[in-house]
Amino acid sequence: MFHVKHDVVVVGAGHAGCEAAAASARLGARTALVTLSAEAIGRLSCNPAMGGIGKGHLVREVDAMDGIIGRISDLSGIQFRLLNRSRGPAVRGPRAQIDRAAYASAMQAELAGSPGLDIVEGEVEDLIVDAGRVRGVVLRDGRRIDAGAVVLTTGTFLGGVIHLGDRTWPAGRMGEAAATALSTRLGALGLPLKRLKTGTPPRLAARSIDWAALPGQPGDDDPVMLSAMSDSPALEQRPCHISGTNAATHEIIRANLGRSALFGGGITGVGPRYCPSIEDKVVRFADRDGHQVFLEPEGLTSDLIYPNGISTSLPEDVQVAFVRTMAGCARAEIVQPGYAIEYDAVDARALSPSLELRALPGLFLAGQINGTTGYEEAAGQGLLAGLNAARLAGDGEPVTMDRSTSYIGVMVDDLVTNGADEPYRMFTSRAENRLALRADNATERLTPWADAVGLVGPARRAHHRTAVEAKAGADATLRALAVSPTEASEAGISVNRDGRRRDGYALLAHPDGGWHVLDRLRPELRALPRDVRDSIEADALYRTYTDRQRSVAEETRAADSLPIPSSLAETPIPGLSNELRQKLQARRPATIGEARRISGMTPAGLALIAAHARRAI
Ligand code: FAD
Repeated sequence: MFHVKHDVVVVGAGHAGCEAAAASARLGARTALVTLSAEAIGRLSCNPAMGGIGKGHLVREVDAMDGIIGRISDLSGIQFRLLNRSRGPAVRGPRAQIDRAAYASAMQAELAGSPGLDIVEGEVEDLIVDAGRVRGVVLRDGRRIDAGAVVLTTGTFLGGVIHLGDRTWPAGRMGEAAATALSTRLGALGLPLKRLKTGTPPRLAARSIDWAALPGQPGDDDPVMLSAMSDSPALEQRPCHISGTNAATHEIIRANLGRSALFGGGITGVGPRYCPSIEDKVVRFADRDGHQVFLEPEGLTSDLIYPNGISTSLPEDVQVAFVRTMAGCARAEIVQPGYAIEYDAVDARALSPSLELRALPGLFLAGQINGTTGYEEAAGQGLLAGLNAARLAGDGEPVTMDRSTSYIGVMVDDLVTNGADEPYRMFTSRAENRLALRADNATERLTPWADAVGLVGPARRAHHRTAVEAKAGADATLRALAVSPTEASEAGISVNRDGRRRDGYALLAHPDGGWHVLDRLRPELRALPRDVRDSIEADALYRTYTDRQRSVAEETRAADSLPIPSSLAETPIPGLSNELRQKLQARRPATIGEARRISGMTPAGLALIAAHARRAI
């Protein structure tokens, strides 16, 4: 295999790497996926779940571009819930509880069946750099793989160090070796590295928990799948259960804070503010005497339970003591202790929006290595990096994703513009345009674009075409409806007697309206697939806002494209603060859009820069 010259080498087979390799292979690039252990391909490092609010949006976007994370999750899901169901469609996020073993084996089967994709077991220790461009990788045992482009997705493995109480040792995850040589090499190549950290809770033995004492939480009766290509769950469904910490738990944690790696000063890296450890929560929310803990099954045949909400780096004896104060857990056995991990990440400001290193062409980075946390964030970047690596290897131009049309675009733009001072995770509030960036319309937003760049296969294309035709037919029917106020009130909708006729969208968006009304008026609409109905309903609800947002986005895009000559950073701009002048010099934005996204940029500062840029043209 090593005599075959590959177009693309992807290093790492976590969520970024699997998606990058699959995308690259879909483009027809001969792709090598190199990973430390083939058995660990697709391993979920932390919680056995995929999706959620913001994260579910990312999964749907990857899926809309014929990515694999959504389909694999549906094949291995043992509970499906649409989060935020009672709130507006824009912030509803599909989530699945995953059978960990089923996920990894479905992912391994998917990659093994991908034409043009070779799996290589080994540790990448070095990059081949020729005339300032990355041309391949060297493995620890001396093998070398030449390639037109390389994608690094090394997760928590680069310079990884585990912390458990006062014990520390190098590792990429519990039981897996760290990638230390590559980290040293990246530092020597001048990549801007920094330390980040994250943590995971202990795993409990299911048989040791008193389930009768705990309320159950089943999945939805009408499961919403993560992939547009799936109809229903493939596996038997299971409930989660709800336990929680209490005053006694917090007392034990408080008494032992000095023994926590997180609080004992052993860790210098910055942790995820939005996934805090239980030590963090007890200190930061000192007035609360309890936090909910979901006991999540790790799989249908696994005896392990993942207690979501108590990630920790306290010593094992303290973990046992505090877990046993929780409801239903008086006799809980810990099978694997929780721990914290510290690792190297690259400052993503060194990347271009195609995820290629500006200073080292041919090298793309995706996932945790860019300072993000989460499987879904990793997969979104992996797809974009794999796509661009394959394009570069084929001498194509880079492509980028826009923040006004995708959460992936928002994430990449946030990362390359501002970097990540702490592990970055997706929230719907990060998108200015969030009413238009919904999980339900990801295919409409992205499948045509992905098809145009070569990411979409025939099955997905046919599926999308059918959905588009169904929606267009329904759209014509809804627009053609012209219901008078009298007809509306006969249908149970009270509207003003203004003589105005309402179309189908107005009836859908009306508080008394909905599909039950439309189905009576136009029975042929009953045959529409559920995802098409959901998407039309959301369109109806947000029609006015999305039209306004679209025109604001267009205006902003036009203003953002104004180029900034590089000489402007050195030109005195009267009225511009010292802080902004320094940021301008350090970042040298190429356009007003890039300048606008510099953290701390003010509207007044931007107006001054734009005025000078315009004058310089
Ligand atoms: P990973 O899934 O880590 O995959 C990295 C891959 O690279 C592995 O396959 C590894 O074998 C391979 N690799 C590394 N170096 C080399 C090399 N030199 N040569 C060959 N192969 C190599 N996310 C959350 O959202 N919330 C959490 O609370 C959370 N907690 C976490 C706790 C822990 C302890 C860990 C380890 C992770 C946690 N995560 C959490 C993060 C989540 O697991 C990652 O964000 C996600 O897995 C990142 O995906 P990735 O593809 O970037 O990397």
